Amino acid sequence: MSICYIGLGSNLGDSIAYLDSAISALHSNQSIKKIIVSNFYRSKPHGPQDQPDYINAVARFETKLTPYALLSLLQKIEQDNDRKRDGTHWGARTLDLDLLLYGDAIIETESLIVPHPYLCERSFVLYPLQELEPDIVFPNGVLLKECLSKLPVDDLKLIER
Ligand code: ATP
Ligand code: CA
Ligand code: CA
Repeated sequence: MSICYIGLGSNLGDSIAYLDSAISALHSNQSIKKIIVSNFYRSKPHGPQDQPDYINAVARFETKLTPYALLSLLQKIEQDNDRKRDGTHWGARTLDLDLLLYGDAIIETESLIVPHPYLCERSFVLYPLQELEPDIVFPNGVLLKECLSKLPVDDLKLIER
C-alpha cells in the first residue's frame, strides 16, 4: 500500500457537488482505502483571471494501484464529471484531480510528475494538506511547514459546511 495525496479543484458548474462526486467515486473504488478529505476552500484562479473562483480540497488515501494506474483513475473520474479538455492551459474546469504525492516516490516522465511540480507554491494545496498531515516531509526532504512559512494565505477562504 502507498499513501497518496491528491488535490481536488473545480471552478465550473456546481463545484462543491463536483468535489463531492469525485470523493464518492474514490469511496466506491475497491482499490482506494482509508480516504480522508480536508475542508473545502475557495481560492482565486491561477492563470487566466476571467474565470470563476475555485473550490479546492486535498484527499489522502492508501492504494496498491501503480502511480500510472492511479493517474488513469483520476482522469476517468474527471471525465465522468464533465471535464472537457479544450486546450486552454489553466482554463475553467468542472473537476481537476492532481496527484500530489505517491508515498516517497519521485517520478519525472512525460505524462506524470510526482511530487506535483507546483506543490510547494500553491496555498490552495498546502493549507488543506496541512490539515491532514501537518508534519509531513516531502520526498526531497523539505518540510510542509517550511513551504508554508514562505506562502501567504492570500485569497484562501475556508468554506463552512
Ligand atoms: P497543473 O498541473 O499546473 O495544476 P492542470 O492541472 O491544469 O495544471 P491538466 O491539463 O489537468 O493540468 O493536466 C495536464 C497533464 O498533466 C495531464 O495530461 C497529465 O498527464 C499531466 N500530469 C503530470 N503530472 C501530473 C500529476 N502529478 N497529476 C496529474 N496530472 C499530471
Ligand atoms: Ca491542477
Ligand atoms: Ca490536472
